Amino acid sequence: MVLTFGVYVGTSTVTGLLEAGLSTVVELKKLDSEFLVAGEDRICESISWELRNVSSCDWFCWWTLLISDKTPSTSMSLNGSSPLLLKNSDSVLFGFASLSTDKFETFETFDTFEKSAAMSIIGALACQKDSYLRSLATKVVSCNQQGNRYQVELEDTVLFPEGGGQPSDTGRILVGEQSLDVESVIRSGLKALHIVDKPLELGTTVNLNVNWEKRFDHMQQHTGQHLLSAILDKRDLPTLGWNMGEMINYVELPRKLTDSEKVEVANEVNSKITANLPITVEVPPDREVDSVKGVMRIIHIGDLDANACCGTHLKSAGQIKGIVLLNQVSGKGSNSRLNFIAGDRIFRYTESSHEILRSLSSSTSVQAEQLVDKVNALVVSSKKLQSRESALLKELATRTAEELKQTLSEGKTVVFHRPDVGLDFLNQMFKELKDSPGTVVLLSGEGKDGGAAIVFGENTTEVSAKLKELLTGLKGGGKGKFQGKVASYGKGELEKVKQQWT
Ligand SMILES: [Zn+2]
Repeated sequence: MVLTFGVYVGTSTVTGLLEAGLSTVVELKKLDSEFLVAGEDRICESISWELRNVSSCDWFCWWTLLISDKTPSTSMSLNGSSPLLLKNSDSVLFGFASLSTDKFETFETFDTFEKSAAMSIIGALACQKDSYLRSLATKVVSCNQQGNRYQVELEDTVLFPEGGGQPSDTGRILVGEQSLDVESVIRSGLKALHIVDKPLELGTTVNLNVNWEKRFDHMQQHTGQHLLSAILDKRDLPTLGWNMGEMINYVELPRKLTDSEKVEVANEVNSKITANLPITVEVPPDREVDSVKGVMRIIHIGDLDANACCGTHLKSAGQIKGIVLLNQVSGKGSNSRLNFIAGDRIFRYTESSHEILRSLSSSTSVQAEQLVDKVNALVVSSKKLQSRESALLKELATRTAEELKQTLSEGKTVVFHRPDVGLDFLNQMFKELKDSPGTVVLLSGEGKDGGAAIVFGENTTEVSAKLKELLTGLKGGGKGKFQGKVASYGKGELEKVKQQWT
């Protein structure tokens, strides 16, 4: 029986090992009598190990043991939750547990055993072994403050950290009467760190609950993507990337699908859902531990597809419920993004889309089927009206300017205000009046909505300075021509301006 074990080891332990020299550790191979493997009826025949520095501060120790078992009937208990302790004649170096066990055991003090962080790692977290597990009793291993938040490491977790295109879970940590929201779970090397707003004491036993509604939705989208990508793969359309959105997801493909291809793919995907293909997770016995991805896992959808993935998946295709292919959007180069939604989101999307249609139908007084024609006609009509309005306003501005011109003379300042026009109107007036004598103040808008202001002519600097005093919401500048924006007109301010230059 070959058992493979892994354990995170702290930098201090590694330093101690290295100081002792690698040969000291290699000699452990000879110390069979010193191995205690869940009782004394089993002998470790050989051991090989590898120490990897997976990041600048994290070390991972990976062990493979060949175990001979004198009592085969109980040999499988090794594969259970029994802790395995390894010690040499001086002190226990490591405590660690099988990655294939259902739960990790913490180690009791054993002689001079120094407690090491025997942790579940990415790829072998409780939520990855059983994606339907909603709660877990576990212990706090570390808690570090980062700004006004705390990063809590637990012995194991039912909260999936971000990865494989799947966003992080949220949930709650319960400690006695206290309840802490887990805002997100992030990865640090092969560890999962729970982000909370209060500190937790090391060694505390906590109950961890996942936000199941959100997680199940993620599982539907994620497993849906596996199935969709598997069907697209068969058509030589490899998935180059994918994204899970708040409502709409996409797979990035090397090209756009034709309309008929899209229909065929949708039919095929949904027929596999109806066929309720089983979805299983395989952890190969000779599994590798990737320094970034952790324990490698293969996700099988019946005989249709096998893909390495760290995410949480449904156990059967039927639970995806359905997949709807939406529009396609151009991606990088000739790539195309195929939008889709899966699972119960389809119901929510249908309900909200129906509400939008119903509301538009009501405000335009046509049936939903006629909405496209109606809205297109409204857009054309609105463009025509805008163009006519702008021509008429231009004409009105020119005429208004001509009237104002009659009142202008050297040394005089004239104020013009119209509430229902914009800056375009004022600028048209400026064009007509810029060479006239005197100084002109043009204002638009009214009340809290504010408006625009232009000042030009002989005394632009003095008049605009005074105008700024009178209109507290006015900001702007410019030499020769002052142009500004009035955030809002205070009570009585417009009247004061008019009185100033009558
Ligand atoms: Zn996956």
